[in-house]
Amino acid sequence: MKQKETLSNIQLNGDGKIEMIDVLIDEMGDNHVMTSVETPMRTDAFALSDDEKIAAIEKHFEAIMNTLGLDLTDDSLKGTPHRVAKMYVKEIFQGLNPANMPKMALFENKYKYNEMLVEKNISFYSNCEHHFVPIMGRAHVAYISNGKVIGLSKLNRLVEYFAKRPQVQERLTMQIGKKLQEVLGTNDVAVVIDAKHLCVSSRGVKDESSSTVTAFYNGVFKDEARKAEFLKYLEFKTEF
Ligand SMILES: [Zn+2]
Repeated sequence: MKQKETLSNIQLNGDGKIEMIDVLIDEMGDNHVMTSVETPMRTDAFALSDDEKIAAIEKHFEAIMNTLGLDLTDDSLKGTPHRVAKMYVKEIFQGLNPANMPKMALFENKYKYNEMLVEKNISFYSNCEHHFVPIMGRAHVAYISNGKVIGLSKLNRLVEYFAKRPQVQERLTMQIGKKLQEVLGTNDVAVVIDAKHLCVSSRGVKDESSSTVTAFYNGVFKDEARKAEFLKYLEFKTEF
């Protein structure tokens, strides 16, 4: 938060200051600073249709490739701007559009099952909002029913929806947790995410072995015993 203020306060009026901005921008990215739980979006984010966005991004990406000196008349490269634009809008960033939020039908908890339900090892692919390179990981989600239950596949879909945005892992974790609370009408929700960031392993500090763990605990999951129970289930080795 502080770094964002610092960044916007600097005026572009000298080489020294421009260098300073570069340093701050790198630092913000490498430290993966998150500014809000909501994905920062403009109010006119959906003024353009998907097709209009694809056409615009295609032009911009073509300019990036041209600037890099790539020969876009080459058969292998000429379709890339369109492919990337389509992939951004229709696939890897489709979770930016609330219209793509999965339908979350609820069912009565007929069995009166009142222990925690854990859906673990939900694998996902996302992209770091600071470098636009992949984040890949696994999400583990738990909740205790408040009278309603949700289809198991919806938990996967919800993780996938929020992952398909430029993301920061902390925000991804909180967005999944908060949406589940809202849908299920209970605070008894926990989310743990373990993920690998390619911006850390393939560039910058080039650490190939580290992964990042983030957690969201609310309601009864704030209780140490409940938290420990959830984490114990995550250790079970499942071989099917
Ligand atoms: Zn990054």
